[in-house]
Amino acid sequence: MERTSTGFSLLMSAIMVAFIAAGTAVAKDPDPSRLLISRNAEFNKEILRVSESVYTAVGYAVSPVSMIVGPRGIVIVDTGLDVASSQEIRADFRRIVDKPVKAIIFTHGHPDHTHGASAFMDSTDVEVWAREGFPHEQHTLESAGILIQKKRGKKQAGFALSPEQRINNGVAKAFWPNRKSGIWGADQEVRPTHIFNSERQKLSVAGLNLELVAATGETDDALYLWFPAEHVVFAGDSFYKSWPNLYALRGTPYRDIRSWANVIDMIMQEGAVALVGGHTRPIIGKIEVNQTLTNYRDAILFLFDKTVEGINKGMTPNQLVDYVVLPEKYKNLDYLRPYYGNPEWAVRAIFSGYLGWFDGNATNLFPLSDEQEAQRIVKLAGGKDALGDLIAGAIKEQDYQWAAVLCDYLLAVDPKNRAAMHSKADALTALAEDMLTATARNYYLSSAIELREQASASGSE
Ligand SMILES: [Zn+2]
Repeated sequence: MERTSTGFSLLMSAIMVAFIAAGTAVAKDPDPSRLLISRNAEFNKEILRVSESVYTAVGYAVSPVSMIVGPRGIVIVDTGLDVASSQEIRADFRRIVDKPVKAIIFTHGHPDHTHGASAFMDSTDVEVWAREGFPHEQHTLESAGILIQKKRGKKQAGFALSPEQRINNGVAKAFWPNRKSGIWGADQEVRPTHIFNSERQKLSVAGLNLELVAATGETDDALYLWFPAEHVVFAGDSFYKSWPNLYALRGTPYRDIRSWANVIDMIMQEGAVALVGGHTRPIIGKIEVNQTLTNYRDAILFLFDKTVEGINKGMTPNQLVDYVVLPEKYKNLDYLRPYYGNPEWAVRAIFSGYLGWFDGNATNLFPLSDEQEAQRIVKLAGGKDALGDLIAGAIKEQDYQWAAVLCDYLLAVDPKNRAAMHSKADALTALAEDMLTATARNYYLSSAIELREQASASGSE
């Protein structure tokens, strides 16, 4: 791999060293945040030479941007989230080879892969390729008038967090959109000029032969790109180095997990010598690619099969997450660690994806409302003050999940209770400290900020 590095990565390393020192001093169990911090090595800003004609820019944008150099021009695979970062990539690509962009391939319609596209529109003749269904993963929700996923998405991404709070996104560096400057927004969107709707589409452009392959998994419009001349595969978000986000916290319709595993299998069959994922750094070497994809596919299928086994035993989602335990051989692989997605959420998603909301327990056919249940718990605890003492005790014992549950009870009967808001914020902050999954970490910390804001705007103590 050839590298064109920048001073930026050195600066970031220095900042991260300082951050590691600060972070480990306060964390109860330093491992999760230390591991998440070590992830920043995946986001060092540089251009990697993946094969003879393929260059991938990592760490500039939220997703890697690749350039395939052909005899008559270049092809760009994915375009990053924001135009400013992508303009920098375009300029650095030009230093390697000064040829015009002939085509852009979108692996799917998510903004982090498409919104930087205008930086690569060298002319109005650029062919922009995507798969049928582009770009609307959220279409099902939006067409039903459901909008809350936007708010939840910001919490998942941690946009309200400060740079000190936000380590990274698990599979991408921390990035804050700057809507005011217009570097990220609908006005910058480049629409596909070519849509394919078959299983496999052969494409000749810039003197290159490429193949687009339908790859339903994370989204219905997902594709992977196969470059047969140099045996390079561009997997889009079907692969990145993390436990995959088989369920996204912002709220998504069921992501077909079996189909996702099948896509990994199809990619394996191509026999690639280099694998460029939708996030994180490429994997180079035929054996490494094959081993990685084999483990990735098998871990996903293990989780799916075990979940189905538990479902057929009559287990509820809460029982299933204890029942489905990934074998050690997968847990210890860095590229299967839950930096971004989390196996527990996948288990729950399989249950609700196939069986819906009812967990099978007759008690839960018509449960008490939150308030009705909370009134009884408060009584059981001996009143609101006694419940407050229990919350303080749980926090003291570092039983943070229980503390948050107790705070919810207190807030259900006394929604303006500022002490409960602060205690819950403290519990969530502590949970975040021990959390490896960046999306969960961001969600905890964003919710804690929200609670503290509510508390300062609220009445009684
Ligand atoms: Zn992505």
